[in-house]
Amino acid sequence: MRLYIITGSSRGLGLAIAQRALEEGALVHTVSRHRNDELDRTASDAGAQLTQHEFDLQDVERIPGLIDGIISSAGGPGGSAVEEAMLVNNAGVLEPLGPVRELSPAALSTHVAVNLTGLMQLTASFLSATSTAAYPRTVVNISSGAATKPYKGWGPYCATKAAVEMFTRVTALEEGDRGDRRIIAVAPGVVDTDMQALIRRTPEEKFPHRPKFVDLKESGKLADPAVAASLVLRAARDPVVESGSCVDVRKLYGS
Ligand code: NAP
Repeated sequence: MRLYIITGSSRGLGLAIAQRALEEGALVHTVSRHRNDELDRTASDAGAQLTQHEFDLQDVERIPGLIDGIISSAGGPGGSAVEEAMLVNNAGVLEPLGPVRELSPAALSTHVAVNLTGLMQLTASFLSATSTAAYPRTVVNISSGAATKPYKGWGPYCATKAAVEMFTRVTALEEGDRGDRRIIAVAPGVVDTDMQALIRRTPEEKFPHRPKFVDLKESGKLADPAVAASLVLRAARDPVVESGSCVDVRKLYGS
């Protein structure tokens, strides 16, 4: 059986990834501050096992315990029922939005904790808890085009996504060229989620690129979360995407 740990699964892209995983009949652990009843229904229809962890990723100190508990509940690193384990670091926030000169300590520290510190600790705890596992392991870090393209008003977001990509490359380098573990970063395209709704609500003084995103929505060019989720999972298993790669599904699959 496949084991998935998916963060930011209460809505948007993470919800769609969790739904795909459940439809495969996998063992799925989701991690968000809020649970999602739709996922319980999908799990029940698919006969899949789901545990929803209501967890704030700002609580970084508790991440090792969370991951150890999940791996133990799946039979430990020697869990004979597990054929493959995948951590999808999808949770992310865009705020604070606006010029760097207006940033405040509280907003900055929440942003970095969710987008970066939490993701780093989840990766560390997952690799550590499964270090003696016989099954293959994959870490998928959800990135963004903003990792490489600067946008006015997205200082923290562009910076944390760029850091996620470098963290992915370093972790892959450390883990070495072993076929049993892959660490990749995947940019999912522009996806029709609450994050996009927030972008369209943001005044142009704070985000001057807003009209481009309004136009993408109005011209029907936002990706459906279910389609984006399938492409992310396709990249996660695509042998062309080597460990340490940072890919964009739009370039990879021409979507
Ligand atoms: P979204 O609709 O805003 O959903 C964000 C998810 O992150 C929610 O499930 C939320 O759950 C979770 N989250 C936020 N703060 C959290 C916290 N403190 N602890 C735990 N979970 C937390 O965003 P999305 O558009 O689906 O984005 C998903 C990922 O794709 C993000 O990494 C984003 O940067 C990336 N991405 C999105 C787009 C796009 O166009 N949408 C483009 C490129 C990259 P709770 O509120 O329940 O905690």
